[in-house]
Amino acid sequence: MLAVGLVFLCYCSLRAQDQDYPIQPKPFSEVQIQDNFWAPRIKTNHEVTIPIAIAQSEETGRIDNFKIAAGRQEGSFCSIYPFDDSDIFKIIEAASYSLQTFPDPKLEAQVDSLIDYMAAAQEEDGYLYTNRTIGGKLHPWAGNERWELVHELSHELYNVGHMYEAAAAHYQATGKRNLLDIAIKNADLLVEEFGPEGIRNYPGHEEVEIGLVRLYRVTKDERYLKLAQFFLDIRGQEGVGNPKKYDQSHKPVIEQREAVGHAVRGAYLWTGMADIAAITGNKDYMKAIDAIWHDIVDTKYYINGGIGATGSGEAFGDAYELPNMSAYCETCAGVGNAKWNHRMFLMTGDSKFIDVLERTMYNNIMDGVSLSGDRFFYPNPLASYGQHERQAWFGCACCPPNVARFLPEMPGYIYAQREGSIYVNLYVSSATSFNLPEGELRLQQESEFPWEGNVHIRVKNDNPMSAEIRLRVPGYVQNQPVPSDLYEYTSAENGPFTVQVNGAKMHYTIDKQGYIAINRSWTDGDTIEIDFPMEVQVVKAHPKVEADAGRIAFERGPILYCAEWADNPDEKVLSLIVDPKQDFNLEKTDKLGGIYQIKGKARQASRMLDGSITVSGEQDLQLIPYHLWNNRGPGEMTVWMATNQEVVTPEPAPTIARRAKVSSSKEAKSIIALNDQMLPEHSNDHSIAYHHWWPNKDQEEWVAFDFDRKEAVSKVKIYWFDDGPNGGCRIPASWKVQYKKGKKWKPVKNQSPYTATKDAWDEVNFKPVKTEALRVLVQLPKEYAAGLYEVVIE
Ligand SMILES: [Zn+2]
Repeated sequence: MLAVGLVFLCYCSLRAQDQDYPIQPKPFSEVQIQDNFWAPRIKTNHEVTIPIAIAQSEETGRIDNFKIAAGRQEGSFCSIYPFDDSDIFKIIEAASYSLQTFPDPKLEAQVDSLIDYMAAAQEEDGYLYTNRTIGGKLHPWAGNERWELVHELSHELYNVGHMYEAAAAHYQATGKRNLLDIAIKNADLLVEEFGPEGIRNYPGHEEVEIGLVRLYRVTKDERYLKLAQFFLDIRGQEGVGNPKKYDQSHKPVIEQREAVGHAVRGAYLWTGMADIAAITGNKDYMKAIDAIWHDIVDTKYYINGGIGATGSGEAFGDAYELPNMSAYCETCAGVGNAKWNHRMFLMTGDSKFIDVLERTMYNNIMDGVSLSGDRFFYPNPLASYGQHERQAWFGCACCPPNVARFLPEMPGYIYAQREGSIYVNLYVSSATSFNLPEGELRLQQESEFPWEGNVHIRVKNDNPMSAEIRLRVPGYVQNQPVPSDLYEYTSAENGPFTVQVNGAKMHYTIDKQGYIAINRSWTDGDTIEIDFPMEVQVVKAHPKVEADAGRIAFERGPILYCAEWADNPDEKVLSLIVDPKQDFNLEKTDKLGGIYQIKGKARQASRMLDGSITVSGEQDLQLIPYHLWNNRGPGEMTVWMATNQEVVTPEPAPTIARRAKVSSSKEAKSIIALNDQMLPEHSNDHSIAYHHWWPNKDQEEWVAFDFDRKEAVSKVKIYWFDDGPNGGCRIPASWKVQYKKGKKWKPVKNQSPYTATKDAWDEVNFKPVKTEALRVLVQLPKEYAAGLYEVVIE
């Protein structure tokens, strides 16, 4: 129980002496959860995700890097990126949390041996960055000298930010100083080197600010706090670094009002600003992050709780730019957004921040990991042809360890306290206790959230005591899915609900901060019962969100739904048209670990050979919770369902290309794009699927179409993908068509020239051939790859 004591002491001493968040979270280590949703996932995280994260790090050289830097092993830097060190720090942070819930000597010993390598790898003066410490050829991002490219991509400060977080977590969990001492020595070096009198530069990827504040909270060393603030304030100053929106260094942070650039970087920056604002009372920081929060929630927030619309720069898009199939919604950005919103709540006590936290964690973050705990999404799209699939690991492996550290900490988001006020923010079966002036007040919460809306809270205490219990009323209960007009419910309003104290209905009001406050003297055995409505809700997006025009989504409580291939006729869902005015039913089922699914009717749209669209009769429609899609293999999925023919993606017409079996010189799921009859608006349209050969260049590639019978063909039309000037694909250097004769490929006799055009169709007519297969040979440009959206064969 040492761990619990330490955590408690830490918060207490802070409150006694220092300014910090006016509301204190109830740490996860003091909350025992017993529900059927989170508890099993947190257990799987411990039993599966954390062990495989360690195993994957062994396999991919991430751990060897530390061993080599420590001189325990021969070799050179053996993973891909200089930020790979950060994954190990995040895994230690995750393990430290998880060990507090699941004592596990084997895992603790593994963590200790990792820390042992780190201690030996740390340079004399505290520097730790395996890519440089190992010596030999440096990664081009590292820079020739220490800190030289710190504002670009070296990630020297990013890495150690994660180390400080891990060190604070490990110390609080185990009471051991082994990692804490490494972190302190490293932070002391930063204090010496950076600052108004030293190196005036900022990290290209924010994170060190959060880490330094955590180190400050543990050590009380104010130099760390000052350095964190320095890193924030130097950002965007004239003549410093390389100002750009990508990493939010385009202007001083206190002048920023919009969410721009890399979404994970942004979320970590704003989290760090909230921390410093809490401790120093800096109002300018709050003003900036409040405006940025509104910019996101008003115009850049996905219904699945994700942020970051575009894979290009892993970044925020423009206002209302929220494409579905190409949505980025990186899992890390979800974790960052959840942490930031939790801090905004701790600062203000406003439940709207918990609305965002709750939506993001139930949908975006939980989508990031499979039910089995060993497969991960990096981007979390809202529609798929089947080209998306969770992966066992990634070259850039930031996301899996981020989920691994989020999950064990999740119970820490349920409750909070501000002096005599107790916040019940999330409805999750759990038990905890609070220290009040008159003694200890224990709460036992029972609920079937997120599947049912009834909540039962029992008070346990030794002597009667007065306290205010603040019950959060989620936005969705008040018919407001998000705290803005970005989304709205179109279905029947959630009716009024009841709150009972000791069995007697109480007259309540919901205060401005979104809570029902019950202020009374509590006696052992007192009960509170709430019965939140849990209607199936039909959602529509703000008319400015083009991607969702004419479409609806479905929610119930905090859970977003989607239609997935496995539950629907012919495994098709993108071509379905749904009448929003019908009655939708709910069914409890054992599938996917036990869920409630939504049932209704839909009709399927198909394109005919003449281009017209026909719509089938009614068929059954089944929807599952969005975060559980892709647990039964890849296939079609959509969150936003078409309500009419104008916006639906019809089943493609049975053309020659459609009926053909498509293959490519590069095996990839994206070849389904080639005959899906989804046509781009231009050559850099990321809203639909495309197939590409990146990172290959200056070589020949091909796509082939094997027909189901001999076809007479005389024309091929192609639309090329070209994501210049920033991307790696251009229209090809040249291309040609071949047909199969016997077992051989023969060139067709073209009667018009082969052209390669950006933003338009290229068409070649050739002397008719009767053949079983056609092939398109593509010569890649000297310095670039190529790609294509669609091939039409006539
Ligand atoms: Zn990530």
